This record gives sequence, C-alpha cells and structure tokens, in this order.
Amino acid sequence: MDEPPSSSSALNANVLVLNRHYCAVQVITVRRSLCLLCKGDAEVVHCENGTYATYDFASWIELSQLRRELNEYSESDDWIVSVNFYVQAPRIIRLLEFDRVPEDGVKFNRRNIFLRDEHRCQYCGRQFSSRHLSLDHVVPRSRGGRATWDNIVCACLKCNVRKGSRTPQEAGMRLQRPPRRPRRNPMITHKLNSRKYECWRTFVR
Ligand SMILES: [Zn+2]
Repeated sequence: MDEPPSSSSALNANVLVLNRHYCAVQVITVRRSLCLLCKGDAEVVHCENGTYATYDFASWIELSQLRRELNEYSESDDWIVSVNFYVQAPRIIRLLEFDRVPEDGVKFNRRNIFLRDEHRCQYCGRQFSSRHLSLDHVVPRSRGGRATWDNIVCACLKCNVRKGSRTPQEAGMRLQRPPRRPRRNPMITHKLNSRKYECWRTFVR
C-alpha cells in the first residue's frame, strides 16, 4: 500500500477560522487548530465536491482513518503522522462559541504590504524574495508622504535607490498599479491561489 503524503510542515500549514455563523475571521496554523479541536472549541469544516460537512474531532479522526484505509487522498492534502494514527490536516475550522465578526481593516505591516503587492517591485514589476525588497514611500517623506496603505509600495533595492527621494513622476518611473488598502487579509487572498486552500473560497467573498 502506498504511504499517504505526509509532511513535517503539515502542522505549520494554514487553517481558515470561521465564527459560529460561518464568517471567516482569521488564519491560524494547523497546530493551533488541533488544540482548539481537541478542547472541543471548534469543529472541522470539510469541503468536498462543491459542498461541505462538519466534524467534531473524534469523527474527523475517524474519517481520516477511513480515508487512509481506502487510500483516498490527494496531493494537496497534508497529514499529521502520529505513532499509531494519521490525521488529515484540516483546512477550515469553525469556532462553536464565537460570534464576533472580523475586526475591520487589515493590519498595516511589512508582511501584508509584501503580500498585497505579491512580492513584486511596483516600479519594475519583477518579483523578489522578501529580503530583496524594500518599502518605498511613493510621495517621499520629505514631501509629507505618510506611511499609509495608499503611499507605501514594495520596491526592489535597485528601483528604490534609483527613485531616491523623488516622486515617481520626477523620477520618470511608473507604478504598476495605484496602492490601496486591501479589502481583506492579503494572506487569505494570497492563499486562495493555491490548490491546497481553494476550499476557502466557499467562505471568503
Ligand atoms: Zn524594481
């Protein structure tokens, strides 16, 4: 029998958290989701064939065993391997007692700016890893430009130096797109592109 795909990174994969009313509130790791499931604070929401079903932790483990016995797993699944059992990493959980809706607004930080701009320099349009990207004030600080969603963009080091403390017009450099405050957590937007997390689409507008 083939071994199911398993990965030590499974515990660090992401899980979309829904409140009691199936509204997406945040993203956590599989590790943290297992604590919540184990305590009975949450249930697994499992999407399949365009519909979804919910499982408490015991029935999720049971389903995992069954899928393993039947050799039924896809490449995009992650598995947590324990001494004597396998558990499929959940992709979505629902908090049973949590009513609140997500906080308004997206945190303004380096990681979210990089994700919003897809790690793409907003001047030359090329993609870079985080350590080769910097943050650029579109309207320079010396001209009163602020550190806000609509004035900060990703820029590669070369473009950042070239632009210096000039406006894009003065530097003859054009922005790929006007920077805006993202409507939802850029982490979610980013993950929706991956097959692993496409089930999130059901709950994220
Ligand atoms: Zn660049």
